[in-house]
Amino acid sequence: MDTYDFNLRKINTSNIYSYFLSHLDVTKQDLAAGLNLTLPTVTKNIDYLLDLGLIEISGSRGQTGGRRAITYSLLSEAKLALGLDITRHHVACVAVDLNGRIISFKRNRLPFEHSDEYFKKVSELQQEFIESSGIDHGRILGVGIGIPALVKADTRSLFYSEIIDLREDTYDMFLKYISFDISLYNDANAASFAEKWVNKDLQNSFYIMLSNNVGGAMILNGQVYTGNNFRAAEVGHITLIPHGRQCYCGRAGCVDPYLAATNLSQDDLAGYFENLRTTTDEKLLNNWNQYLDYIALTVNNIRELLDCDIILGGYVGAYLEPYLEEIKKRTLRLSTFDTDSDFIKLCSYKNESIAAGAALHYISKFIETI
Ligand SMILES: [Zn+2]
Repeated sequence: MDTYDFNLRKINTSNIYSYFLSHLDVTKQDLAAGLNLTLPTVTKNIDYLLDLGLIEISGSRGQTGGRRAITYSLLSEAKLALGLDITRHHVACVAVDLNGRIISFKRNRLPFEHSDEYFKKVSELQQEFIESSGIDHGRILGVGIGIPALVKADTRSLFYSEIIDLREDTYDMFLKYISFDISLYNDANAASFAEKWVNKDLQNSFYIMLSNNVGGAMILNGQVYTGNNFRAAEVGHITLIPHGRQCYCGRAGCVDPYLAATNLSQDDLAGYFENLRTTTDEKLLNNWNQYLDYIALTVNNIRELLDCDIILGGYVGAYLEPYLEEIKKRTLRLSTFDTDSDFIKLCSYKNESIAAGAALHYISKFIETI
């Protein structure tokens, strides 16, 4: 077989597999018509995917009495990827399937510290998670780890970790105790990857991660834009209020100390937003009112600069639905060019987007190999 045939076969297989990712109960005829392929080509590929255990016979379709066509479906749990989200006080574990669905997740309280005991404990928590979720080790593609630090393209080397004490040997420390392939990802980039997974047609957009720290990620022409030094989109350190609140980076007045979720609640955002619906506490309402203004200011700055969709995500983003119209109104008031505010969107991945996004890198790489 020459290279041309090999490539063509690979493209056909990959297209057929992608078709299964977005359709249930597919017949050979559906594939032939939908992808413009001959039936023998479809049959060869179906046999190949059945052999790999990536699809299964799901039933049949057609007229009673006539010849019924066999239907096939994706075995979405044939492979799984795990994700971890490492924060100051917690470690979240998720498992995602080949459709990108979170099939299991657990958040554990475990304060970060740079010690053997910590990394060992993370591995134990993950092992417990694997067992309680009933996941077979052989199906695990790898573990994506989202961290509050900047990470280079090799997904091993990290730099600028001012939020928690992640050191240069973080990758090796995880590897020492975790027996799967592992990769490190910047938290906001991981979350935006999850967002891109759900919204495949995202072309130009900016994701603001409103979590206990504020991060950002930029998708340019459908790809994550990382900048010349892997520190693009760090919206948390744009100056919002000159000489304002102290930021952990050492400067004052950055976006981070104004929009970090900890401005609203130290560790119970669900409770905070529940309370916000009915409270008459003036101090709390003023604080929230100010927070909304800071969001509007930040969103408007990004919009003026990039002219793209802006997605509000992170821990806070998951609760903003009832306040979206207000945020839009306040942003429009600041805008030089915009007359409508449809460009402001809420994240689609409401929970555990960092851990899921880190895991999805493995799913994405696996699908590319088919
Ligand atoms: Zn800063």
